[in-house]
Amino acid sequence: MATIPWLVDVLRGAGVQVVVEGDWLNRMRPGSFDPIGVLWHHTASTSSATNPHPALNICINGRPDLAGPLCQALVDYHGVFHVISAGRCNHAGTSGGSGPIPAGDGNTMLIGWEIDYNGVNQEMTAAQYDASVAATAAVLTRLGRDASYARGHRETSTTGKIDPSFIDLNVMRADVAARIGTAGWSSIVDNATAGRFTASTSWGVSSYSGQRYGADYRYADPVAASDPAWYRFDVPAAGNYRVDAWWPANAGYNGATPYIVATTTGNRTVYVDQRATGGQWRTLGTFALPAGDANRVAVSRWSTAGGLVIADAVRLTRV
Ligand SMILES: [Zn+2]
Repeated sequence: MATIPWLVDVLRGAGVQVVVEGDWLNRMRPGSFDPIGVLWHHTASTSSATNPHPALNICINGRPDLAGPLCQALVDYHGVFHVISAGRCNHAGTSGGSGPIPAGDGNTMLIGWEIDYNGVNQEMTAAQYDASVAATAAVLTRLGRDASYARGHRETSTTGKIDPSFIDLNVMRADVAARIGTAGWSSIVDNATAGRFTASTSWGVSSYSGQRYGADYRYADPVAASDPAWYRFDVPAAGNYRVDAWWPANAGYNGATPYIVATTTGNRTVYVDQRATGGQWRTLGTFALPAGDANRVAVSRWSTAGGLVIADAVRLTRV
C-alpha cells in the first residue's frame, strides 16, 4: 500500500468531522508506507476555542529541522480532523517496538494523529479524545486490525517522547476496542482483493455478467474433487458473524453451490442457487468465528448440480 486515499471517507463514515487540507492525496514524504496501526501524539502547542489548531501550519509544512507533512491528520480543539496526507509522514521516527508494532521505521508502519494541545498544563479536550477514539477504531477496522494496534508515541519512541500526555493508553485501547465492538465490524473480500482471495488456475476470470461485484469474478465447472476458492479475513475478535455472499446470477450457473464457512467448531456448508438472486448480498447465516487472519469462507466446486460455480465477493459482519 502506498497511500490511504480512503481515509476521509472512513473518518466521515465513523461520524468524525473532517476538514480536507488542500492536496492531501498527493502531499507526503517519499519512501515506503504500509500502515498497520495508529499512533497518537500531542503537538505541544496551546489550543483554545478561539485558536483551535495552532500547530496546523507546521504539521502541513514542517519545520526547519523536519520536513512536512508531520502527520496524516491534526485533531483540533473541537475534535475536528484536519486531514493533511494520504501517505507517509514524518511523525513517528524509529519505533522501538510496542505491543504488536515491531521495531523499525515507524513512519512506514503507523498513521499519526497530532492532537493539538500542549501536554504540559493543558490536557486533551473531551471532543479531541472522543473523535480520536472514533477515528482510530474506524481506521483500525479498515486495516483489519484490533485495538492493540493503537499506540502512543511515548510507547514506540526510542528518543524519550512523552506524548500524548495525560492519557492512560490502556484505557484508550479499551475505549477503541469497545468502539470497534459496537460499531459492527464488517469486511468485504472480493475475488480481486489483493492477498485475500486464492483459487487455482482451474478457475477462470469473467466480467460477463453486469451483476458482478467489482470488475470481474471467477468461475469453474463443478467437479467431484476438492478445489475451493478461499476468502481470507482478519477477524478482529472471537464472536458471531453474519456471512453474506454476492454472485452474478445466470441460467447457466450452478443450482447448488456449496459455500463452506470455517467456524470455531468446524466447517459448515451452505448451498445456494446461483441461477437466481444475483447482484446483491445474500445471507448464508450467522456463525461463531475465532479471532485471527485466516481463510474463513470458501466456494467449493464439489457440487452435484450442473452449471458453472461462481466465486465473486463475500462479506463478514459482526453481530
Ligand atoms: Zn509525537
